[in-house]
Amino acid sequence: MIEIAARMSRFEESASARASQIARALKAQGRDILAMTTGEPDFPTPEHVKQAAIEAMRREQTKYTNIDGMPELKRAVAAKFKRENGLDYKPDQIIVGAGAKQAIFNAMTATLEPGDEVIVPSPYYVSYFDIARLAGGEPVAVHTSAGDGYKLQPATLDAAITPRTRWLVLNSPSNPSGAVYSKAELQALAAVLARHPRVAVLSDDIYEHILFDGREFHTPAQACPELYERTLTVNGVSKAYAMTGWRLGYAGGPKHLIHAMAKVQSQCTHGPSSISQAAAIAALDGPQDIVRERSRMFQQRRDFVVEALNKAPGMHARMPEGAFYVFPSCAGVIGKHTPDGKTIASDRDFTHYLLETEGVALMDGTAYGAPGHLRISIASSVEVLGEACIRIQRACEMLR
Ligand code: PLP
Repeated sequence: MIEIAARMSRFEESASARASQIARALKAQGRDILAMTTGEPDFPTPEHVKQAAIEAMRREQTKYTNIDGMPELKRAVAAKFKRENGLDYKPDQIIVGAGAKQAIFNAMTATLEPGDEVIVPSPYYVSYFDIARLAGGEPVAVHTSAGDGYKLQPATLDAAITPRTRWLVLNSPSNPSGAVYSKAELQALAAVLARHPRVAVLSDDIYEHILFDGREFHTPAQACPELYERTLTVNGVSKAYAMTGWRLGYAGGPKHLIHAMAKVQSQCTHGPSSISQAAAIAALDGPQDIVRERSRMFQQRRDFVVEALNKAPGMHARMPEGAFYVFPSCAGVIGKHTPDGKTIASDRDFTHYLLETEGVALMDGTAYGAPGHLRISIASSVEVLGEACIRIQRACEMLR
């Protein structure tokens, strides 16, 4: 028997990937399932991006690239950081990986000693937690409240920092809450970090372009120049350009950290496919109007879903400020009974009930460190979202 290592019990597989797999399996069995579990745009990858990939194959750009990415792509990433974020990163301060996820994995693997702490404001993208654990670190969930817009407060940050803290992870716009930090809010957190020079910042900007109500995007390395030397700015093409399957992310940061991250990558994937890298150049250098147009479409869907969910008894949805999730509280259904007499004791019970009775697959808030909530991906057509909301309303009305 091949034995599995003890470290495997320190972390979980991705909950949303698992939920999406279950939804796909039920669909394959012929069940009428509406899956609102995945964090990927339903739009196609832009045509000019696909064309660039085809051309790369035709000219035999099919060989290993530099581990930290093709020089032309690193140039395009540097230009993007300058153009959109006012950030100066030289080529040796940039690494390209197989998704933002790989950049996060590289960074934690390259920096964490056993027991080092990583502060992760909850609700959180669960991979920060599990990647920190896989790298031997200790994720520390720090609570944020609906009253504070699910944003980390300076005093809470201050109280969470210990001599073992190595990273503060910030994710704005946030998956799952949709919270977006203003420049002043980032600067207030930077004021706390000024007293803790050993704490680095990992800013996950993957939803940068999905911003609502005319909000502006700010990233710590730019909003707080004093943090530039200890910030890793992570981003990628997955969400902005509907390229989740191409597996292409990137990060900018201090040269010595990028170098260490590349060393990790050299022994795991060697980096993303050469074809995806060619496609990413086209995405970053090409026209950007499609990004804004899609963000407007997400905003319309958000308005529709929030309004519909607030009509469902027991649900309360806030307006997300960005990203493509609605994150309602379902506290009002907990303790109620289903028509066949089962008690809904948790958000997880409620998602099981929705899947069984109405075929609606959603994520429970517990998976994101926020029990009593649901995460609904709005990356589906308005027709599908409309039908899902009708079913959720009906399921809520059936509870006693
Ligand atoms: N960061 C956040 C907050 C995400 O929600 C996701 C994907 O859902 C990722 C990173 C992973 O992005 P990528 O596809 O670039 O690995």
